Amino acid sequence: MATAQFNKENLQSSRANHKPRHQESSSVFPKQTAAASESAADKARNGQRWCLNDFEVGKPLGRGKFGSVYLARERSSKYIVAIKVLRKSQLLKAGVEHQLRREIEIQSHLRHRNILRMYGYFYDEKRIYLILEYSPGGELYKRLTSKGTFSEERSATYIRDLALALDYCHSKHVIHRDIKPENLLVGAHNEIKIADFGWSVHAPTSRRNTLCGTLDYLPPEMVEGRDHDEKVDVWSLGVLLYEFLYGSPPFEAEGHTATYRRISRVDLHFPKNPKISDGAKDLIRRLLVKEPSERMALADVSKHPWIKQNALSS
Ligand code: ATP
Ligand code: MG
Repeated sequence: MATAQFNKENLQSSRANHKPRHQESSSVFPKQTAAASESAADKARNGQRWCLNDFEVGKPLGRGKFGSVYLARERSSKYIVAIKVLRKSQLLKAGVEHQLRREIEIQSHLRHRNILRMYGYFYDEKRIYLILEYSPGGELYKRLTSKGTFSEERSATYIRDLALALDYCHSKHVIHRDIKPENLLVGAHNEIKIADFGWSVHAPTSRRNTLCGTLDYLPPEMVEGRDHDEKVDVWSLGVLLYEFLYGSPPFEAEGHTATYRRISRVDLHFPKNPKISDGAKDLIRRLLVKEPSERMALADVSKHPWIKQNALSS
């Protein structure tokens, strides 16, 4: 990717506006110390750009398609972050510079407890570095696969928080479009964090924004190639709730065509095992509705009786 595409003019989400917020810090640093060093750091750095030398880089946290993620600490404030390092050559080869730019623009403007913060970015000749909130609980996907399923309490808590976070995104005209366990992280207090805005868009969107990755989480209107709106995220929330409780997504099938067919028909079944309460099934049925406009409003999810009974206070 040409460096010019990542200059100040193109991407304004620079460190000046998106510095780490210490009140949201992990418990590693006492609040007062962090607050004091934040203001010191602010003064020293006002208007400057981040660079790699501003961070002590620690252990790798994981690998993604285009690079790796490392634990890091900002030198002056001691603030802990995750740094995602992306190789320009790989981004260019895959033709996803545009997507990355959108991801940065969108994610760096969202502020919500259940959305992974992006504090800023910088780049050098070969790489692009994203400064992200560190999520110590790691991937939700790993937790789900190691446990098999989540309890109704845990599921209700995650789903309520996700519904609130997605409602917040929609209020900013952002549709996530790729809600699935692989794109969710777990914070220091076991709270869920939406990460990975790589497929998100500013609403409204049209049919030209096409399919990506696994079909399992996609709603009928998207697999059928019709126009779609923010209601796609409501559907994905239903798929996710089902997977939390039963351990696999509801429309799984051999191959794309069979999955497509099951989604399109809303071929929904509830296995006898594990035994799931009627309230949870009722909520799933209200989220997995073929007609987008008839899906439950995200604001109503937290008022659903099953959520009220099971979700833990946060
Ligand atoms: P891609 O986004 O390219 O499809 P990916 O989601 O697998 O791939 P990344 O988002 O680059 O990859 O992250 C790689 C791994 O690093 C994640 O799976 C996760 O385990 C870890 N990780 C990423 N971001 C953070 C973070 N902010 N805090 C803690 N761990 C993280
Ligand atoms: Mg990812």
